[in-house]
Amino acid sequence: MNVPFLDLKRQYASIKQDIDDAIREVIESQTFILGKQAESFENNFARFNNAKYCIGTSSGTSALQLSLEALGLSGSEIITVPNTFIATSASITAIGATIKFVDVDPRTYLMDLNALEKAITPKTRAIMPVHLYGKMADMESLEKIARDHGLLLIEDAAQAHGATYLGYKPGHYGKVACFSFFPAKNLGAYGDAGACITNDETIAEKLFMLRDQGRKKGEKYKHEIEAYNQRMDSIQAAVLDVKLKHLGEWVKKRREHARYYAENLPGWVKTPETESIKRDAFHLYVIKTRERDALQAHLKKDGIQTSVHYPIPLHMQPAYSYLNIPEGTFPVTEQNSREILSLPIFAEMTEDELKYVCDSVKRFKP
Ligand SMILES: *Cc1c(COP(=O)(O)O)cnc(C)c1O
Repeated sequence: MNVPFLDLKRQYASIKQDIDDAIREVIESQTFILGKQAESFENNFARFNNAKYCIGTSSGTSALQLSLEALGLSGSEIITVPNTFIATSASITAIGATIKFVDVDPRTYLMDLNALEKAITPKTRAIMPVHLYGKMADMESLEKIARDHGLLLIEDAAQAHGATYLGYKPGHYGKVACFSFFPAKNLGAYGDAGACITNDETIAEKLFMLRDQGRKKGEKYKHEIEAYNQRMDSIQAAVLDVKLKHLGEWVKKRREHARYYAENLPGWVKTPETESIKRDAFHLYVIKTRERDALQAHLKKDGIQTSVHYPIPLHMQPAYSYLNIPEGTFPVTEQNSREILSLPIFAEMTEDELKYVCDSVKRFKP
């Protein structure tokens, strides 16, 4: 048997007619940027997250950059984590702010709140937690820390569509939450797309202008500010609007698969905590073992595709050599980069496939 890490063809097959119709409608209308498809998706995605505003963008990266700029954070110091995709930190540099990394908690792999409090300086103006793997950070504590120190909170929710924390979706505690619709994400477009979620009308208006050449919604020739072209394409919005109807059910499936893994993987594999299975969106199912490389090779021989998120911590990337952060500075992130392994997980996975993966892990002799 071959088990792919992710099989988007199965997802397409299950919604083909609706997707094809939605794309054809855009082509027949011959309007390709924003338009009624983006408006509809923005309304629906705002509602899905119980938020007031959704601003569709050209990618998750642009959602992050525009949010930091809308909040006026240029020139400030922003705290985030080194175990994330580089877009999180690169968006900080892109708007002329400074990155400050803090390590993660060994239990959740999310921002370590003690390390965070120690890292805050008078120059710090914002905290950017990442809801990595689809697990939301401890937003109540983060909001308290942010409030105590007068800091802004921006959520990188690029992997957390459908995740909740105390019943709240991303964007409730943070000033803005940023999503990516990169095709492999829990909610994926057929190309690049992203979105910002906020409850703040002023920030929403700023974001609408920043993504669209400084124009207010509905304006054509009047530009309030100099800005960017980082709008959402109509075809992407149409695809996302079709898929959004299934997102709840797809996330539920991911949780069922996560439970299967938790119950059927052997004891020597460290699996994600099960207490929050009903809240996490399981964009990735990440296990941990000292024998990571050997286990990955063993699974590959059995036809099982796995991946590592992420093998090189950001502070050890060539791109960040200028920060001069020595190895050993963020021990949890560094150990994880050597020991974590992402197993296949997607809504359409079958129980046979899940069993095959678990049996293969059981056959592995560490
Ligand atoms: C995917 C991702 C991004 C970037 O999103 P793009 O749509 O690829 O620009 C940012 N942060 C995290 C944590 C991601 O996983």
